[in-house]
Amino acid sequence: MSELNPFKIAQTQLDEAAELLGLDKGTHELLRWPMREYRFLLPVKMDSGETKVFHAYRVQYNAARGPTKGGLRWHPDETIDTVRALAAWMTWKTAVVDIPLGGGKGGVTCNPKELSDTEKERLARAYIRAAAPHLSVHRDVPAPDVYTTPQIMAWMMDEYEAIAGESHPGMITGKPIPLGGSQGRGDATARGGVYVTREAMKVRNMDPSNTSYAIQGFGNAGQFAATLHTEILGSGKLVAVSDSGGGIYNKDGIDPDKIVHHKKETGRVAGFPGSEPISNEELLELNVDVLYPSALENAITETNAANIKAKIICELANGPTTPEADKILFEKGIFVLPDFLANAGGVTVSYFEQVQNTYNYYWTIEDVHAQLDLRMTNAFQAVNAMAEKKKVHMRSAAYLVSVSRVAEACKLRGWV
Ligand code: GLU
Repeated sequence: MSELNPFKIAQTQLDEAAELLGLDKGTHELLRWPMREYRFLLPVKMDSGETKVFHAYRVQYNAARGPTKGGLRWHPDETIDTVRALAAWMTWKTAVVDIPLGGGKGGVTCNPKELSDTEKERLARAYIRAAAPHLSVHRDVPAPDVYTTPQIMAWMMDEYEAIAGESHPGMITGKPIPLGGSQGRGDATARGGVYVTREAMKVRNMDPSNTSYAIQGFGNAGQFAATLHTEILGSGKLVAVSDSGGGIYNKDGIDPDKIVHHKKETGRVAGFPGSEPISNEELLELNVDVLYPSALENAITETNAANIKAKIICELANGPTTPEADKILFEKGIFVLPDFLANAGGVTVSYFEQVQNTYNYYWTIEDVHAQLDLRMTNAFQAVNAMAEKKKVHMRSAAYLVSVSRVAEACKLRGWV
């Protein structure tokens, strides 16, 4: 059985890139580990009056190219190693889209589905009271990730400003629009993914109209991918979606707006009228043009990679494919848009949000979309050119582009 610890996987991926790049030993070692990490114990009063103690983390992986940046995940399976891996991937993500930021990530081990809104608010504020000395627009800037929302970002910004005694909207991104959030941040992750899918189709000479697609995971990224695939590419047939409660399939197509509505109403995709049930495993192996893994790590492993039939895999999730599976997919000729390229739209618009906060002047939705498209398309082209030049798969190529950019920044600073 292959290694499934996400941080070990992130280190293995880096090791492969370091070898291909002929990276010197010092730089390689520096990039294998987070430069700073914090653990916090957060005592929070529950609605019942009892105190619950939560374990929380913030990892600042590498700040050579700028302040560290990355989301906060609230999940029952969160560990220091998942946060480290996600922080490493953020470092490569900000580098691949060439924005002047480093990589970081944070999290709280908790089950948000069991927390009331008032408990979530107290947890959000407790996190900021613990982490505030280590956060700022010039130091480290959080954002949403799995199970965290614009509302949670709003409570966090409010707590930070209460501590600071002044306005600091750029200390966190993914805020609601009335509090300094950016137009277009909500669907940015999925939108960026569909932009690079469009570019991959050009490389593969695929006609973007009439493509079939399936979505594994129906959170923020998955839901927006459902509607944006057809909106941006002009048409397309959604044949299956799944979430943690199971999946649904209809070979004749599922109406993207209706399934998003059904999920919002019922909290799950199962039971959607006119569809048949399908397991998460079956969904991944469907014969579709585009597969969007949009849930968590390790969805595609050496166990199922050989059965995957999609032509393009657009990884909206972080870390959905293991290194062993990558090799199998490459040999099968599947075009993989690797996570830190495919889902970089979120942090790109987060960066636009910070820029707008800093000069206190706000862009139109059209400006955000045009700038996002430009950044994503440029990043795709840089990675695809590297893949063709070095004859490696797209993840290796993305690592080569990003790691050399971060290594160059470390060198210019005199660290190595
Ligand atoms: N959590 C998102 C990601 O994994 C967004 C990070 C951000 O906006 O800073 O890319």
